[in-house]
Amino acid sequence: MNKLFKIFSILTVLSIVLLVAVTTNSNNFKNNPLSNKIIEKIEKKNNIIKQTINRRYAIDVDIPIKIEDKIKDNLFGMATYRDGKIEIILNKNRFQENENYMIDYVLPHEYAHALMFHFKNFTKQNGGHTKKWQQICLNIGGLKCDRFVGHNDILMEKLPFY
Ligand SMILES: [Zn+2]
Repeated sequence: MNKLFKIFSILTVLSIVLLVAVTTNSNNFKNNPLSNKIIEKIEKKNNIIKQTINRRYAIDVDIPIKIEDKIKDNLFGMATYRDGKIEIILNKNRFQENENYMIDYVLPHEYAHALMFHFKNFTKQNGGHTKKWQQICLNIGGLKCDRFVGHNDILMEKLPFY
């Protein structure tokens, strides 16, 4: 066997091993729930936001936060209003890249949408990223309350007055 062929073979085998390792790793993430450590972090942040909402608006909200991998890949999270029920959905697959971003930036952003629903404000203007939304987002401690996000992360079905 000549030397070049030997090197080539070794490289090929290494690449395959690496590829299998990477794929397995990503599949593991896909098929498993988020770690307890991340869940705890989400709950902690959720409590802080709820306390802030209580202080700012004198209301107690209990909005379910769901971690799903079935929402559009380009969305970090969503706020939904379906038949009177408000929910926040966080994109599970996005936690793999940066859990802190998901918890500190995305969660308050979606909370602000959820509060808009709570206040019966169902505007679709600018994907729901109105000045009112921005004010709520900032009030509840949001770090990224950009009005020009260019995505649509709200879903409204069966509104009370339609
Ligand atoms: Zn949004």
